[in-house]
Amino acid sequence: MIATMDEDRRPFRGNEIFSLTGKRVWVAGHRGMVGSALVRRLREEACDLLTVTRQTVDLRRQAEVESWMRASRPDVVLIAAATVGGIHANRSRPAEFIYDNLAIALNIVHTACEIGVKKLLFLGSSCIYPKYCAQPMTEDRLLSGPLEPTNQWYAIAKLAGLMMGKAYRAQHGMDCIAALPTNLYGPYDNFDLQQGHVIAALLRKLHEAKLKGDGAVEIWGTGRPKREFLHVDDLVDALVRLVTHYSGDEPVNIGSGQEVSIAELADLASRVVGYRGRLAYNTSMPDGSPRKLLDVTRMTELGWQPRIPLFEGLQHAYACYRKRLPPNAETDIAAELHWRGADLSEA
Ligand code: GDP
Repeated sequence: MIATMDEDRRPFRGNEIFSLTGKRVWVAGHRGMVGSALVRRLREEACDLLTVTRQTVDLRRQAEVESWMRASRPDVVLIAAATVGGIHANRSRPAEFIYDNLAIALNIVHTACEIGVKKLLFLGSSCIYPKYCAQPMTEDRLLSGPLEPTNQWYAIAKLAGLMMGKAYRAQHGMDCIAALPTNLYGPYDNFDLQQGHVIAALLRKLHEAKLKGDGAVEIWGTGRPKREFLHVDDLVDALVRLVTHYSGDEPVNIGSGQEVSIAELADLASRVVGYRGRLAYNTSMPDGSPRKLLDVTRMTELGWQPRIPLFEGLQHAYACYRKRLPPNAETDIAAELHWRGADLSEA
């Protein structure tokens, strides 16, 4: 069938509309899990990569962001910087989650517009959808109901960032796009047991329990919530595809399209680690959202598919975790217990 004019203008099509070749591309937050994966992925593109450490530029300070961006002149800005964490971190550090994430969005989006950045990618998350959203969640359901209380501070900041992109597109014609990734995992995840997300926490807990010969491992909540997980290497493939193939007002969900219960995840992770003890559910810890499955029709129409199945992804994440342990940690349990995953994985 011959495409009509209208079909040619649909934003979710698989044609390249923006080339990275020769562009100066700034990955903000290049030391985090998403940022470091983006840097690895962008090495395959013929672009000039820009990065800056938080010692040089604190992204929460407008003056520092502005002077660095004016001097560095990025053509493309990918905002992977964020203050992130698991369910407990969100609950216990609400001020940091709202302040840091608002400030990062405000400072970078505004300066990017002032210096004429050609393309800006902002990252939201599946946790900014309403708590009781119809599943799978389509992008038009954003702001359609109350948020999940445990992560409302983070969600409000990310929703504000998303709206900034829309506002700057509307008023200044700036090419801001936004992606909404599902729950992520992979290399350089935060393995701190209090601050991290469920996959990193479970891999570490199970590994330590195996070494110590513990008979049980604590799993937070009831095990009944369902989550959709995506390996970060799949995410960054999608992000590069989005930057090069999409321009528009509407955010785009990025997920695997498959969900598992936390209990199923804990069983899979036990198999990956080789832990044979009991899983003990601590129902005094929160469950959070009952489900957060994304509708990935838009991203699929842009010609992207995830490639890493959950079991393989968990094996990879576990291998990366073990590789980053200090020498002798496998035999020296005391050293292992002093190891702070968070210190190694800070954004
Ligand atoms: P969420 O998707 O924002 O809720 O983020 P998390 O990855 O922190 O938690 C996902 C689910 O895993 C929640 O239902 C948690 O209660 C559950 N969970 C079970 N054990 C753990 C754990 O050790 N750490 C974390 N972070 N979550 C856990």
